[in-house]
Amino acid sequence: MTGLDLVLTISGVLFLIALFIAITKSDNKQINKRTIEKINEWQNAGFVHPLTCGKDSTHQNLIPREKNGRVILCCPDCDYVQERIPPEVLSDYVQRFKDQAYKRSILE
Ligand SMILES: [Zn+2]
Repeated sequence: MTGLDLVLTISGVLFLIALFIAITKSDNKQINKRTIEKINEWQNAGFVHPLTCGKDSTHQNLIPREKNGRVILCCPDCDYVQERIPPEVLSDYVQRFKDQAYKRSILE
């Protein structure tokens, strides 16, 4: 193996690593975008209890924010942050409920 071969091999490997990182990052962005949509759907649904501030429940509803590549919930009125997003928020519960309500409305 010549020096040039070695350089080509190393740059090829580095290229693949960079490609992998780029794909992983864009995947994460897509997932976070979907997570934020789900949270907003839940917070605006009106028929489920919205996620509220852990310090003062009279504060406005928590809002999703992206921080260090992760989605977290922040209180707009104070510094309260909730890192855990309840699984039911990320489920299709709100959408299913809306679909059923819609079906009922067209059958009545
Ligand atoms: Zn608060």
